[in-house]
Amino acid sequence: MTRKDFLKMLGLAGGGGLLYLAGTSWLRREPMPKNNAGQAQAAGTEQWQPAYAVLEAEGKLAARIEQAYSIMESCRLCPRRCGVNRRAGEIGFCQAPARAMVYSHQPHFGEELPLVGRGGSGTIFFSKCNLRCVFCQNWPIAHKGWGNEVSDMELAEMMLDLQRIGCHNINLVTPTHMMPNILGAVRIALQKGLHLPLCYNTSGYELVEMVELLDGIVDIYLPDVKFMDGVEAQRYNLAAAADYPQMAKDSTVEMHRQVGEMITDERGIALRGLMVRHLVMPNRIAGTREFVRWVAADLSKQTYVNIMSQYRVEFMAYDFPLIARAITAEEFVEAMEWAREAGLTNLDERSLSSYEIHRRRVS
Ligand code: SF4
Repeated sequence: MTRKDFLKMLGLAGGGGLLYLAGTSWLRREPMPKNNAGQAQAAGTEQWQPAYAVLEAEGKLAARIEQAYSIMESCRLCPRRCGVNRRAGEIGFCQAPARAMVYSHQPHFGEELPLVGRGGSGTIFFSKCNLRCVFCQNWPIAHKGWGNEVSDMELAEMMLDLQRIGCHNINLVTPTHMMPNILGAVRIALQKGLHLPLCYNTSGYELVEMVELLDGIVDIYLPDVKFMDGVEAQRYNLAAAADYPQMAKDSTVEMHRQVGEMITDERGIALRGLMVRHLVMPNRIAGTREFVRWVAADLSKQTYVNIMSQYRVEFMAYDFPLIARAITAEEFVEAMEWAREAGLTNLDERSLSSYEIHRRRVS
């Protein structure tokens, strides 16, 4: 399909303010697929319970926490599989200690709208990272490790703080290397009244078996899928994570199996499901065309997808010529048109707004 055909399909071709507005409203008013929304409504939102509360009621949560902590003793929490005993003070690639490290906990209003609502997404930014991209936008936290060690009890109190001030979820940012601590904290917080959905906001560099351990604990998965090509992943991540595409794809498929497509409450606030992020990069480095085709083929066309336009040159990216600039309007428009061509029907609202802005620039 040519770009012109695509715009025609959207009702945007041919110019004319009225037609343009009609096209815009078509984009924006396209109902967000709520394939499982019926389940939420049938169950009644007021009866909704976070997954971890159900698992605790079944008497299974404590065993999962124990299992997770035991994995830390010869650490294979992520595809790096360092094998170090973190509980004995040994340090692996991520440089994380045995206790959780937190940079901040706060309501965040820049996340996807179904996470933000009116009260904000309750983000907890964990220090350090098991992937470490050279273009990391949070490099002081992820690479430099800004933050403080906290006990599981203190982490639980942070979750409860976020709930008290009206956040809609607990959004665990870069959680992979702190997963056992998070599970420990969730159980403590649950016993003190935590009832918000848990959102696992990961780089995507995950082992399937660790995601399986989270089955019945996490309500919302929010993985990035950053690269579709191992050569690019190797080039733009420290210590060459050439296996990133396969790890990210396999783990995201498992996440989808567990929680399915996003469901919301009657206010449009996410309760459960998979939301996938993909950052468009300069010079097609991220493999966006392959990404959207993969989503359509291996997940579903109704998957909530946020195609992000905000790439900026950060940290070590200045040393890599192909990513040492922002993306162009053409690159973002092309990415969104690939998404439409792939048949994706549940694109993030802000992606669609950015598409509108960038499309006007290139037309
Ligand atoms: S979580 Fe850290 S120590 Fe454990 S395997 Fe991953 S990088 Fe290595």
